[in-house]
This record gives sequence, structure tokens and C-alpha cells, in this order.
Amino acid sequence: MVHYIEFLGMPPYTYYVVYSLAAISAISLLYFTHRLTREIGGLPYLIRSIFTKRAWRFLREFLSHYKFFLEETLGGVVHLLLIFGLGISFIATLIVAVFTYSRIEYDGLLFLVFRFLLDIAAISIIISTLLGIYRISINKYRYNKLYSQYILILLGFFAIAVTGIVLQRYRIQYYFGGPTPWSPLSYIVPFPSHEIYFVSYFIHIVVVFLLIAIIPLTILRHMILGYTNYVSVDRPLGELTKPFDLEKIVETGQEVVMGAKSKSALSPLMRIMADACTRCNRCEDVCPATKAGRPLSPRALIAKISEAPSNKDFFEAISEDEVWACTTCGACMYNCPVYIRHVDYVVELRRSLVFESKLDQKKNDLLLSLGQYGNSLMQPNYGRHDWLRDLGVKTAQENPAFEYLLWVGCMGSYDNRARQIIKSFIEVLRSAGLLDKIAVLGDEETCCGDPARRLGEESRYQEIVLNNKQIFEKYNVKKIITICPHGYNTFKNEYPKFGIKLEVYHHSEFLAKLLEEGKIKLAKGNVALTIHDPCYLARHNKVVAPQRIVLRGLGELREPARAGERTFCCGAGGANYWYDVKEERRISHIRLEQLLGTGADTIVTLCPFCNAMLSDAARTKEAKVAIKDLAEIVAENISASAPRNA
Ligand code: SF4
Ligand code: SF4
Repeated sequence: MVHYIEFLGMPPYTYYVVYSLAAISAISLLYFTHRLTREIGGLPYLIRSIFTKRAWRFLREFLSHYKFFLEETLGGVVHLLLIFGLGISFIATLIVAVFTYSRIEYDGLLFLVFRFLLDIAAISIIISTLLGIYRISINKYRYNKLYSQYILILLGFFAIAVTGIVLQRYRIQYYFGGPTPWSPLSYIVPFPSHEIYFVSYFIHIVVVFLLIAIIPLTILRHMILGYTNYVSVDRPLGELTKPFDLEKIVETGQEVVMGAKSKSALSPLMRIMADACTRCNRCEDVCPATKAGRPLSPRALIAKISEAPSNKDFFEAISEDEVWACTTCGACMYNCPVYIRHVDYVVELRRSLVFESKLDQKKNDLLLSLGQYGNSLMQPNYGRHDWLRDLGVKTAQENPAFEYLLWVGCMGSYDNRARQIIKSFIEVLRSAGLLDKIAVLGDEETCCGDPARRLGEESRYQEIVLNNKQIFEKYNVKKIITICPHGYNTFKNEYPKFGIKLEVYHHSEFLAKLLEEGKIKLAKGNVALTIHDPCYLARHNKVVAPQRIVLRGLGELREPARAGERTFCCGAGGANYWYDVKEERRISHIRLEQLLGTGADTIVTLCPFCNAMLSDAARTKEAKVAIKDLAEIVAENISASAPRNA
């Protein structure tokens, strides 16, 4: 039987050196972690956060490691191997410490298994650091000032692993008298002289404690800030920050500065959030704006924000075009392994541009339309829903006992193509016998506010929300259905912050519900279909199953490479529909090509904006494909045996 001997073969003063270094590194880690996060509460905040559900959710996400494999296998492998190697070494050290100081013999099988795992850990660290150095060197442009820091840190991990192997080999000789299967490396690593062992020992402990001490001061801080970002933001991806409360401001007459032009004007959390960025590029890899050759890279944007001095104007390094190029699709946030909220920064910057009236004609027109007409399409609001009368749809005033408010939306109300979608949806409701449970707002419906908020005009957004709140209260609206994922997102995630609680359905969810309840039946079909999942439905709100449930049986469903939560933007979100952006290619053309790549006869859309963008792209490219909303497909395939009620 063999057992662990502390400080084997080392002089007695080693004890003092190791524990002094351990104390110094622990103090440095705690002190600088507190300083790094003090604006949001420092160490007490972080310690309290450990006992929350979000901390456990973070642990689960981290252990699954799925974010690290999104888009880039090499980066995922490097991170996983490094974390595995360091994790095993850390656990082994902890176990040794616990057994040694509790005076329990650390021997037998546990001892042997850890000897074995330490070899595996060392190999993992060596492979990951070499691959990591390779990966960073071939992408040097991304790292800028962080490049040498990264290389030095990886060399530090490499040194820990190599010296660890030397220490292990020395111990193996002592415990077993020669190589053993419990340490496969002992067969290939020669037995070190005592001098080599001695030097390796000190290099090992100095590098370990140095790396621990500098975690909050270097790029390693992503470990602390990635966790902080996760536990501190408990908002769905689609929910923006509420920087002020318009009602209170009106009451108090308080002056408000909208947006942030420098770090010092950001919220305390946003001041440190960007510092978690490791320049891994997982955000840029999926950004539709970058892919279209727009002047935006989410990685570069976050780097500029992180590197900016506290009072320096962001716009000295960031161009206005960069800020307007974002569609707020959220792909960057979905992919970011350290949970940075890129869109929050984009909108803060937009708010500051709105505050300084730095808007071009088209953006001004949108705001003017929202202010003067009450809709985003420069149309008179009077008679907005008159065309629905012929379809037997009543207003809330005419049908006060309605159960569901059908939010027709600006596109659904005025755009001819979107009206077809609404008509189809109404036909389905009629077939299900639900028309008398539905009402619309008629002239009282205005915009939901989404384009104003995404454009950065927070005051206008809040005005619209408060106006809608009054109308919803007037008609006692509890349930709302919309064909627009932008309205869906803001009603579901943002309106509750204004005291408006609604049961919100996207029409895909409602159609799936009708199907599951047997209120409609669909004929079997044999066309080849593909789905374009809207960002604000699938990614921001994780609604991916209902549309697939509905389409099941209607034909062969061919998923594009980017589907569900990993969908690709159509180019209209973030108010982009209303203004022009400098670009080399249209985002909608890129998306159309991806969808055409499936070879499907029909592209199924779930948003009137996506439908408009893709239809326009198909016309330009003369693509032979049908582009239909889910409601239209359902209306076309309602089986004759289904109940039909007026
Ligand atoms: S913002 Fe996130 S995803 Fe983008 S480079 Fe930084 S760490 Fe990576
Ligand atoms: S939200 Fe979309 S468009 Fe905007 S930076 Fe992120 S990935 Fe790019």
C-alpha cells in the first residue's frame, strides 16, 4: 500500500514558501475581484449570488460547455481540455489538502486513481495550450493588446503541466520503485534528478499561485465576469433595459439624459460587463451585419467599449454607421460564452444619438409617423381596421365579451401582403368556431412601440406603452394574439415592466393549440417545406416547436443549416426595416440563399417583416419559390372535415 507524502524530497522551508505564496495569491484574488466588481457590490454580492438559482443554472450551462462548441469546434476543444485538466488538478490538490490536514491517510485506490488522472490532466493541459497558442496566433488581429497576455498565460499553463509531469514522475519512482500503469507517462518520462525535481517544484508552485493571483487583473477575469454577467442579468434576450420611468419623470419634472456616450454614463453592470470579452469571435461568426459587409463587428464593438477610458466619448472610436448596422437579432448574445449583452450597448449608443437628434431623414420619418399617425407606416390611423369588417371581425367596442384581442399590428393593418396573412388567420379562426371570441381595436390600435424602442427613442416607446395600457385596461384585455414576433416580444417581455400583464400568443402558438385541441384538422400534404424562424420569435423567445408541430404532416420539412434558436436574421429587425444601411450584400439575400439551399418548394415565414424581406429578395433574385406565412399554409390545408362555424 502506498500513501501520499507532503513535500516529498523538499527542504523543510518549502512548507513556509508554499503557504506564504498561497496566502498572497488568495489575498490578491479576493482583493482584486472585489475591486473589479465593487460597482455592483463586490465580494459580498458575489458570495450572496452563489446561493441563488441562477448560480446553479450557470453551473449547469458551464458544465454542459455547449456555448463553447457553437460555431467553432477548435475553440470548444481547447477550452474543454483546459478546463478538464485544470479541474482535475484542482480537485486532486483539494483532496490532498483535506486528507493531509484531517490526518486521514490518503492512500489505496483513491490515491492510485488520482495518480492516473493527474497524468491525463497534464496531457489535456499540454494539448489545449498548444492548440490555444496556435488558434490565437492564426487569429492575431482579434486580440490586439491582449495577444501577448494570452500567449504568456497559456505558456504559464503549459509550464504547470510540464513541471507537474516531472513532479509526478519523481513521486512515482518513490512510491512504486519504477514505472506503473497508474501513471502511463512514467513509462516515457525519464526519472528526474533531484536538482531537476527541486527546480520544477518551485516553478510549478510559483506559476500556479501567480496565475491565481492575477485572475482579476488579466484576461483570465472572464471567469469572474462571465459568472457575474450571468447571475446579474435575468432578462430574456429580447428584453431591453428600462433606463427611466416616463410617468415618474413627468410627475417630478426631472431632467433625463438618454443613452450613454461614455463608460461613465453606463450602468455599473454595463461598465464591467464588456471586460469579460475574450475576443473569441463567436459573436462575429454569426453576425448577419458582418456577413453582409456592414461596418459592424460585435467583437470589435465590445472591445472598443471595454478598452475605452472612463470619460472618453465612445464615438471617437465607434462610428454611427456601426451602431445603426445592428439588426438586434441577438445571435451575438446567444453565442457569447461570457454572457455579454451586445444589443444593450447598441441601444444605449442609439439612445445617445437620438438624444442629440443625430438621425437621418428615414429615422426621423419613422419617429414622425409614430408620433403623428400612431403607426410606423405613415398611414392615417382612422379606418385602420375597416377592411376587417367584411370578414366579420368585430372591434372590442362591438364585442365586449371577446376573449382574445387580435393585435393586427402596423404591417397587418396596412401592408397588402400582411393583410393576406391576417385574412388567412381569420379564416382559420372561423373554421375553429372562434371568431366571436376575437376582437380587434380598430382605430384605437396604434404601434406596439418596438421600432421606437429599438431605434433608441425610449420616451416615445414609453408614451406608446402607456397609451396602450389605458386601452387594454379600458377593454379589460387579458389575452392577446399577434402575427408579429416584434409585438409578441415587447408585449410578453417588456410590457410587464409597465404593469401590463397579458397572456401573449404568437399565431404559431395559437395554431398549434387549435390543432392539439382538435379545433382544426389539416389535410396531409407532400410539398417540400422549409421554415425561416424569426429572431424575435425563435432566438429571443425560444418559440421553435409550435411551427414545427403545425407543419408536421403537411409535407417534408427540410431544416436549413441555421434553424430554430440558431436562425439567421432577415435584416428587418432593430428598426432596420425603416432605414438604409451601408452594406455589400443584403442580409435578406444571404438568408434567402440559405433557405433555397434546402431545395424546398415553399419557405414558411412567421413574421410579416420576414415575409416582406424574403419576398423582396426572391423577386430580385427571380427565385422560383413560394414564400407563405404559416397561417396561409394552415388556411390552405384545413381539412373539409374540420368544424366550420361562422
Ligand atoms: S463578445 Fe462574447 S462572443 Fe464576442 S468575442 Fe467577446 S467573448 Fe467572444
Ligand atoms: S444583434 Fe445581430 S446584427 Fe446586432 S451585433 Fe449582434 S449578431 Fe450582429
